Amino acid sequence: MRVVIVGAGIGGLAAALSLHAAGCHDVLVAEAAPRIRPLGVGINLLPHAVRELTELGLAERLAALSVATAELAYYSRHGQAIWSEPRGRAAGYHWPQYSVHRGRLQMLLLTAVRERLGPEAVRTGAALTGFRQDERGAVAEFGAEEVRCDVLIGADGIHSAVRRVLYPDEGEPRWNGLVLWRGVTRAEPFLTGRSMIMAGNGTEKFVAYPISGPGPDGRVLVNWIAERPLAEVRTGRGDWHGRADLAAVQSHFADWRYDWLDVPGVIGGAEEAYEYPMVDRDPLPRWSHGRVTLLGDAAHPMYPIGSNGASQAVLDGRVLARELARRPDPERTLPAYEEARRPPTTAVQLANRQQGPEVVMKLVHERSPEPFTDLETVLPRAERDEIARRYKRLAGFDPAVLNERASYDVRPSSRR
Ligand SMILES: Cc1cc2nc3c(=O)[nH]c(=O)nc-3n(C[C@H](O)[C@H](O)[C@H](O)COP(=O)(O)OP(=O)(O)OC[C@H]3O[C@@H](n4cnc5c(N)ncnc54)[C@H](O)[C@@H]3O)c2cc1C
Repeated sequence: MRVVIVGAGIGGLAAALSLHAAGCHDVLVAEAAPRIRPLGVGINLLPHAVRELTELGLAERLAALSVATAELAYYSRHGQAIWSEPRGRAAGYHWPQYSVHRGRLQMLLLTAVRERLGPEAVRTGAALTGFRQDERGAVAEFGAEEVRCDVLIGADGIHSAVRRVLYPDEGEPRWNGLVLWRGVTRAEPFLTGRSMIMAGNGTEKFVAYPISGPGPDGRVLVNWIAERPLAEVRTGRGDWHGRADLAAVQSHFADWRYDWLDVPGVIGGAEEAYEYPMVDRDPLPRWSHGRVTLLGDAAHPMYPIGSNGASQAVLDGRVLARELARRPDPERTLPAYEEARRPPTTAVQLANRQQGPEVVMKLVHERSPEPFTDLETVLPRAERDEIARRYKRLAGFDPAVLNERASYDVRPSSRR
């Protein structure tokens, strides 16, 4: 069976590795960029995605370039602690949670794809321009060049060309009026040294977590995201490359100084920062049409909340590969894949529009705009607990459920 995957991002490359592990070795990954470069800043991989990459035999390589996140903590705009919970193994998962540089993760996956599927398996400079289907299969069109295949997977991100053919009237991604500025700064470790923190009030927010261990000077690379409403942005919707004006970003957060983190200091220490409007798209009623389907951001672009973008893309590929191995008739495979993956990812998309688990910062601000004296009267522990638990269940990483769930591996004894 010949499979063409459009897009060599985290989703497309992880899908290629998943297909290979499921016995499908005739895979071409077509990437529009002329060269794959380690772009982006930090992302988090939740334990459910780390499980899949572990079962793909990548545990050691992944551990070598990641920081195992130990704790997630939310703070009010005034720097008061609202919620903290252990993460990864410390929370009882069988797999860690990782903070990792997106580009380095992409290069890790690219290397593994080339090793396992051959040096020609990833073709760069190959932008899909269209496709068609006939009784013999699908035909992917790259300008004048055509590639025939049995299954065509659109893993081409939020501006997916595959999705555009399926839904020509959809238009631009939806912007919610918030802008994210993202950067990396060499800084002193904070809190546990492996903490992911968020401080905010529901409209303004600062996120920080280390994506490296300490260097010889004891400092770590801190990935940060500063977020607030803006009347207009200079960057296109869904463009990850737009440069930000660091001094302007810093001025918005000038008085966010806490005894556990100096936010303007962290922002000011970055060499550069990127601007990204907070965009997503409406959930689709259907991903699969004949022999063509969608995966990752092409299928379910979501706000970068709750660390789910890359993680859900990895899960998609694993489930698709499992279904392909179970019932290698694409007309049956793709609906089974979609049935397993569309409802949960739709739920995450919609939950992220309501701020996911981060809503605790908004609730505290609404109920106590000034610093609180007793958190329990503002947001009782039981309510905080329930918010955290509900999101984990919905996004598929409740520890008990994940630890007990059967593997997606079609060869369960291979590579743990
Ligand atoms: C350059 C870049 C930087 C990013 N930085 C961050 C970040 O810092 N933080 C964060 O949270 N998320 C970031 N993301 C998004 C994050 O990687 C995704 O949300 C998540 O990993 C799911 O990935 P995906 O593979 O579905 O989509 P993507 O990561 O968007 O990958 C899609 C791939 O498809 C390719 N492509 C697009 N159109 C075509 C076409 N017509 N033909 C062939 N190939 C095509 C793109 O070049 C890209 O390589 C970034 C994405 C990109 C592309």
